[in-house]
Amino acid sequence: MNGKKARTARTALRQRNEQLLATIRAARPVRVSTDGERETWQRGPLTLTAPVVPHDYPTELRDALTSYRAALLHGECPRCTIEQKVTEAGTLFTRHTVDCHADPDRLVALAAEHGITFERGI
Ligand SMILES: [Zn+2]
Repeated sequence: MNGKKARTARTALRQRNEQLLATIRAARPVRVSTDGERETWQRGPLTLTAPVVPHDYPTELRDALTSYRAALLHGECPRCTIEQKVTEAGTLFTRHTVDCHADPDRLVALAAEHGITFERGI
C-alpha cells in the first residue's frame, strides 16, 4: 500500500471509529443480564460488562466503583473528565485522569487496601 492509500485507509478508519463513538454516546444503556457480581449492558452496538457495587463494600470503594460504572455506562465520570475513543480494533477505550479514584489501577489498589481482590477484574 502506498502512502496515499495508507493515509486514506487511516482517515476512513478514524472516521468510522468517530461515528461509532457518536453512536455509542447517543445510545441509552440497557441492562441485558446479571450474575450478581457483574452486569452485561448493551449501549448501541457495544456490549459492556460492569461490576455490581456491593452494599457491604466500604463507602470509599463503593463511590469509586460507582464512578467507574458511570463512565463506562454513560460516558461521564462524576470525578473527572474522561477520554473515550474507539480503538482501531473497534473496542471502547476509557481513560480517567491519573488522580481519579475510578481509574482501574487506582480502583484495584483501593480495593486491595480494604483486603478486597477483584478476581474477575473490574
Ligand atoms: Zn474519573
